[in-house]
Amino acid sequence: MSSHLMGVYNRAPLAVDHGKGPRLYATDGTVYLDCVSGISTNALGHAHPRLVQAVKDQAEKLWHVSNIFQIPGQEELADRLCADSFADAVFFTNSGSEAVECALKTARKYHHANGQPERIEIYGFDGSFHGRTYGAINAAGNPNYVEGFGPRLPGYSQLTFGDHDAIKAAIARPDTAAIILEPVQGEGGARSVPEVCLRGLRELCDEHGVLIIFDEVQCGMGRTGKLWAHEWAGMAPDIMAIAKALGGGFPVGACLASDKAAKGMTVGVHGSTFGGNPLAMAVGLAAYDEITKPETLENVREIAGYLKQQLAGLQERFPDVIEDVRGKGLLIGVKLKPNNREFMGWARDENQLLVAGGGDNCVRMLPPLNFTREDAADVIERFERTCEFARGKMKA
Ligand code: PLP
Repeated sequence: MSSHLMGVYNRAPLAVDHGKGPRLYATDGTVYLDCVSGISTNALGHAHPRLVQAVKDQAEKLWHVSNIFQIPGQEELADRLCADSFADAVFFTNSGSEAVECALKTARKYHHANGQPERIEIYGFDGSFHGRTYGAINAAGNPNYVEGFGPRLPGYSQLTFGDHDAIKAAIARPDTAAIILEPVQGEGGARSVPEVCLRGLRELCDEHGVLIIFDEVQCGMGRTGKLWAHEWAGMAPDIMAIAKALGGGFPVGACLASDKAAKGMTVGVHGSTFGGNPLAMAVGLAAYDEITKPETLENVREIAGYLKQQLAGLQERFPDVIEDVRGKGLLIGVKLKPNNREFMGWARDENQLLVAGGGDNCVRMLPPLNFTREDAADVIERFERTCEFARGKMKA
């Protein structure tokens, strides 16, 4: 069938009709157990009653109004985000890439406003993903994202985890503005940055007046079992990009910054037509309320512990299929020996289990944060059957 859609997605042969909780219902009637969650986005499952009601109520009142007015819900959600984080100032966006873009601009503008306009260089890390806009692809560590998209933008450089000398030298340079990283890489294959390294980066950056930007678009908002992934390390960034789970599936993102880092973000320097519109804020507030409940975060830790333990058991039984089990909380990566894309297809078509792909030949499991123990056990059964199927295929 011909399509007028740009061919940028490798789409699965699955036409989704509707979703409920952790299940997706295809147009042909097949029911799937969804461990993709819109890639870490439908954090409360599909069609969560409270979120549905919030959208309905707000849609009847006011969909959209320009940011030149005071928008219902923005102040309240910003207050809550700041009360629960290092941040003092929030800018709302429609996506993760836009949140990253705002974070990069905030960092450079800070130095400009601080009398050091020469500090422009942004350092990203290997394996990272920050979105698809120009700043985001240039900041990320994967050269595939920039291939064919013109010259690399000046002012962006890459570092490699573990290359301590290069990291120290970069942070000490007088033209360095900021470093950007995901405390737990998502697309890179559920790779956690060691907590001791995050604390070390904080010390080094403080010493040299360099800002730290965390991209918690995928790993934030409760995904790791704490509200923010960096909380595990007992430190905080200066600026942070979030999105995905923030709207529970509705397009909501935000750039958070400390008062100091937000110094240059004054009237007229940045903006968005849709960012933080009333519908987005209504559903964002409802999602935030649910996700920040202590029982939601406890559930993440409990279910993650169970899944990790069961997956480790499967790794022992299927060493020919599973190479490694990693990640933090419900951002779980399983590094495979067979091709991860093929494995995803077998999970989907043979066992109606949806998992996401990831770098380093991983499949990622990103179930909703309110996932039940029964559903987690169901995932393990389906995953086990997929491993058996993979073993058969590899022998054949
Ligand atoms: N940053 C990270 C860590 C992400 O995982 C993503 C998306 O997967 C983005 C940024 C980009 O977000 P969006 O696709 O909403 O622009």
